[in-house]
Amino acid sequence: MIKDFERFAPKTLKEALVLLAKYGDDCKVICGGQSLLILMRQGLVSPKYIVDIKGISELSYIKDGKDGVKIGATTTHRAIEKSPVIKKKYPVLAEMETRLASIQTRNWGTIGGNVCHGDPAGDPVPVLMALNATLTVAGAKGTRSMPVDKFCLDYFEVDLRDGELLTEITIPAPLPRTGTVYTKFNVIESDLATVSVAASVTLGAGDGVCQDVRIALGAVAPTAIRARKAEKVLKGKKITDALLKEAGEVAATETEPISDIYASEEYRLELVKVLVPRMTKEALARAKKA
Ligand SMILES: Cc1cc2nc3c(=O)[nH]c(=O)nc-3n(C[C@H](O)[C@H](O)[C@H](O)COP(=O)(O)OP(=O)(O)OC[C@H]3O[C@@H](n4cnc5c(N)ncnc54)[C@H](O)[C@@H]3O)c2cc1C
Repeated sequence: MIKDFERFAPKTLKEALVLLAKYGDDCKVICGGQSLLILMRQGLVSPKYIVDIKGISELSYIKDGKDGVKIGATTTHRAIEKSPVIKKKYPVLAEMETRLASIQTRNWGTIGGNVCHGDPAGDPVPVLMALNATLTVAGAKGTRSMPVDKFCLDYFEVDLRDGELLTEITIPAPLPRTGTVYTKFNVIESDLATVSVAASVTLGAGDGVCQDVRIALGAVAPTAIRARKAEKVLKGKKITDALLKEAGEVAATETEPISDIYASEEYRLELVKVLVPRMTKEALARAKKA
């Protein structure tokens, strides 16, 4: 049962930051409530005050600029899935959204809420890692930005200090000859990932050499992670099937999967070994056509 709380519904970011500074530890931000309400119903979180940021229209946008695309934190999953700009520039992000939960959840849940929830099995973070995204947070003392990798600290723990809100996600303009893909392995359609893999490959001009590669994994560690050692196996080389297999095996050594009702630790390791080569090969094929 959810304990009683007092709810505030600020209409501007400034008002929200004042409320967060005033109520401190007793206060929790809510946006779509698709994750927070479950925790509250289970009695895991019982805030005295709730600051509902869903109505802050200045935080709901997708803006295309020369530095890339900026997405406001309260933008819904559905808005991202349907955005012509996202479909054109970062099709992987729209594709990921089509597999996140149900349409009902995507209509109300937000990208900011998903990232701040800090679930290692969440879909958006590995994709944002592969796209090299940056997050901006705001507090009473000003704003700060960080790569998405640095924001994820531990199971359901992110780098938000007291009184801070996530305000914006910036995805840099894609480089030429870049392909990015994402998949999640799950048993129940639209459920959270048992293991997920996002991969991005950038090829050099004319030589077919892997100039840059980012591989991000979900649901195999306390947070989504970059498989940096696996990336090193491929970077600066012409990607072959043998190198892809090696990258999959190296990626598995970078994980710390758990056993749960969905899969054993061993099964998750095997999925990493299979999905990393498969998805990186798909990213390579997309890069060749880009
Ligand atoms: C049935 C169901 C299926 C789901 N399936 C999936 C799935 O397949 N893949 C997946 O990735 N997710 C899935 N989810 C999770 C869910 O869709 C997301 O986590 C959701 O989008 C969170 O957004 P929200 O706006 O509802 O966040 P809320 O629930 O309102 O908040 C989540 C957390 O983030 C904090 N928060 C919210 N916004 C901000 C902000 N701007 N700044 C600081 N803190 C903030 C809150 O305090 C809270 O701790 C599922 C959820 C449901 C109910």
